[in-house]
Amino acid sequence: MDLIFNLSRLRDGASRLDRRFEPTAFAASDDFRIVAPVVLTAEVEKDGPKIRIVGRIQTRLECACSRCLDPVGLDVDAPFDLRFLPAAAHDESHEHEIPDEDLGVSFYRNDQIDLGDLVTEQSYLLLPMKLLCREDCQGLCPVCGINRNRETCACDPRWKDPRMAALERFTSS
Ligand SMILES: [Zn+2]
Ligand SMILES: [Zn+2]
Repeated sequence: MDLIFNLSRLRDGASRLDRRFEPTAFAASDDFRIVAPVVLTAEVEKDGPKIRIVGRIQTRLECACSRCLDPVGLDVDAPFDLRFLPAAAHDESHEHEIPDEDLGVSFYRNDQIDLGDLVTEQSYLLLPMKLLCREDCQGLCPVCGINRNRETCACDPRWKDPRMAALERFTSS
């Protein structure tokens, strides 16, 4: 369960990269948890210092419902196509002059690519802007905070600032 992909013994040309990681290998983030083993299958192309990894990641993520914050599972089977260059070849003083074709390139150090970072970054890209536990999720009560999918409360959903309510009583009388 080694998250580090060591490039030092990699020969030029194509080779396979197949790894399986337990979810415990990944730190939980605020936005999601990895809740199933991560299966990474890829082909690596090495051309001198240039590395290209093309493959897919399969796992299951768990995120919070956008309305009620309950955990929602998200099955993932996502292709990726990534290019890497050694960090040393990247002159930081010319950071603003990276040619267009180099955009989207990542940099590696010490002949190592961290596959944990790769999986985490790809997972972020897969998160939908809005994820609901179900289409008609009722969300949380804005007054008392209970989950309205499971409980009902007596709160007035049209809750208003009491000062506004007083004003309305005054104007409608
Ligand atoms: Zn929900
Ligand atoms: Zn309530």
